Amino acid sequence: MDITDDELLAYLDEQLPAERATHIERELRSSPVLRQQAAILIHRRDQGGHTVGEIWRRQRLSCLSRSQLGGYLLGTATDELSDYVEFHLRTVGCRLCEANLQDLRESRGPTPDSTRRRRKFFESSAGNLAPSR
Ligand SMILES: [Zn+2]
Repeated sequence: MDITDDELLAYLDEQLPAERATHIERELRSSPVLRQQAAILIHRRDQGGHTVGEIWRRQRLSCLSRSQLGGYLLGTATDELSDYVEFHLRTVGCRLCEANLQDLRESRGPTPDSTRRRRKFFESSAGNLAPSR
């Protein structure tokens, strides 16, 4: 691990050169340890009155694509990606991705539960509408 707390903080503050930020970005996605480290730093900074989370919410680099979010919803994402999605949504609190996820959830159509309910409803109304013999 070649990323120090100082560097991570600079990343959080968007003060790193793009190349280095991209590197850290990649490390964050693949390393649970680094995410933990970042979460602690964010927590500490937030307590100190600095809202790093706010900066992160503007940090589009760390955002997820819709296909990644879709994979997460469907449960086809790797464990690694799922962890990152949860980190991104819960620790970072990204409203943009939260909104995207919500949107995907709705456009995915009915959940198995509501399909079952609808079918039941349909069957019972079809029964009511059927001509009696
Ligand atoms: Zn995001």
